[in-house]
Amino acid sequence: MAVPIFDYFSDWRTRRLTCPACVWEGTFEAGDRELFDGLQDCSCPGAHGLLAAPMLAILQFPTEGEWREHWDELSEAEQRHLQRGWGQA
Ligand SMILES: [Zn+2]
Repeated sequence: MAVPIFDYFSDWRTRRLTCPACVWEGTFEAGDRELFDGLQDCSCPGAHGLLAAPMLAILQFPTEGEWREHWDELSEAEQRHLQRGWGQA
């Protein structure tokens, strides 16, 4: 099964993910998330015994240019967080 890659500006926060190996179902934010440079992945938080939990989705973070294109859609908290990261706080 191909792991879906979510665009940050899509409806990923409300998208239901289903684990192919157990009965778990939930949103990306309810899953077992791991943060990497430029992306975050979500694995099933359910019980899988000795088997690795399947990865359910990948969330791709926007580049600085893409953030700026969607600036008006961001919450104030997101804007503050980004500006801090860019050293303009
Ligand atoms: Zn599972």
